[in-house]
Amino acid sequence: MTDEQDKPRFCALPLERRVGWILLRCPKCGRETHTDRQPTDYMEAIRIEVTCPDCDTGDFSEMMQFDEDGRHITRDPDETPNAE
Ligand SMILES: [Zn+2]
Repeated sequence: MTDEQDKPRFCALPLERRVGWILLRCPKCGRETHTDRQPTDYMEAIRIEVTCPDCDTGDFSEMMQFDEDGRHITRDPDETPNAE
């Protein structure tokens, strides 16, 4: 059984900045890699910080997304970037 099919979609948002890859960085060891951008990623996010498997001690660490100015993106995923 899975509930993966019920994830929200963001089809209405502009595509140009969402395509391609996004930087994935481990905040603990600093390892960086690139990963395919997911539909659930913030459209303005250029970097995701998440603990890599080597540093993961079993805690379910939170994934944080940052924009090009290095700001942690905390808005509601359903809002557009300029909604405020
Ligand atoms: Zn790491």
